[in-house]
Amino acid sequence: MSRHEVPVAGRRVVLLGGGPAAAAEATALLAAGAHVTVVAPEVVASVADLADRGLLVWHGREAHPDDLDADVVLRLPSAPATDRVAGRAQRVGTVTLVGAGPGDPGLLTIAGRDALLAADVVVTDRLVPQATLRDLRAGVEVVDVAKVPGGRSTPQETINALLVEHARAGRDVVRLKGGDSFVFGRGGEELVACAKAGVPTRVVPGVTSSVAGPALAGIPVTHRGLTQGFTVVSGHVPPDHPDCTVDYAALARTGTTIVVLMGVRTLGPITDALVAAGLPASTPAAIVADAGLPSQRAVRGSVATIAGLADETGIRPPAVTVIGEVADVEGLP
Ligand code: SAH
Repeated sequence: MSRHEVPVAGRRVVLLGGGPAAAAEATALLAAGAHVTVVAPEVVASVADLADRGLLVWHGREAHPDDLDADVVLRLPSAPATDRVAGRAQRVGTVTLVGAGPGDPGLLTIAGRDALLAADVVVTDRLVPQATLRDLRAGVEVVDVAKVPGGRSTPQETINALLVEHARAGRDVVRLKGGDSFVFGRGGEELVACAKAGVPTRVVPGVTSSVAGPALAGIPVTHRGLTQGFTVVSGHVPPDHPDCTVDYAALARTGTTIVVLMGVRTLGPITDALVAAGLPASTPAAIVADAGLPSQRAVRGSVATIAGLADETGIRPPAVTVIGEVADVEGLP
């Protein structure tokens, strides 16, 4: 502590360089309670040892300053040739959350594609457009967590552990999900798990089905003069379910467009609750299934009829329902 002019306890300190000076600095910083990351292609054995023991994080490759999220950055001399350990084997990799967009592989962002092309491992999901995985470098490991034992219900902890394990083994991991990772994608939990394990992370936002699903069916989620907002809710449990925390009565009064994800099976109870709470039964509604895929289908009706129509026409998940005047804008193609 005495060596440092600023208190470092609990702070993230990045040391650029892996020589004896870095080793001494790291030891002092750790004693003072700092979270230490060393960025250097090669480091002296004592730094490698601290990294092995999980006391600090060692990046063997150039790291982007944004990824490191440092409070303090110190530049120190690099490791002398006589006393160094190769970085490749022991460097900590990174985890990048990439939103793949819905259905159409063309809706992956350029930043997302760049991250995929640089990945050593891609951990993917069932709603990710398969074509997104076509252009990966040779030898890239693809882990489909929908297919690991346990199937769709792979516990989040198992996925978190997998991401951390690959990154700790020095690999750059892309965690690829349908739509956007933070819209019912559990991306936040994965970031927390990585942060706890000292694994640096980055987020590449994706095109979310909650906006793109309606858009691909020609429905704008907002429209000047009709609605001043949109509310996206998860319909995975019906309104009367103990796990449901959505206030449907309040939602019915918001005056915003209502977008329901994961709500095919529960659409009847959800629309009933909205109408019971005073949303006019004539409010336009549409359900868009397989948005962005060749099999895309949209069914239109009102909040009172949409659940029955979806059922009769055999709409299956994934589908997004949009309720509000925007579902029937005059003059739109
Ligand atoms: N993170 C995703 C949403 C995950 S929840 C996103 O931002 O899009 C899964 C739900 O998303 C599905 O039940 C469905 O409601 C919706 N969804 C995902 N892909 C879709 C698609 N191609 N067409 C319609 N709805 C889709």
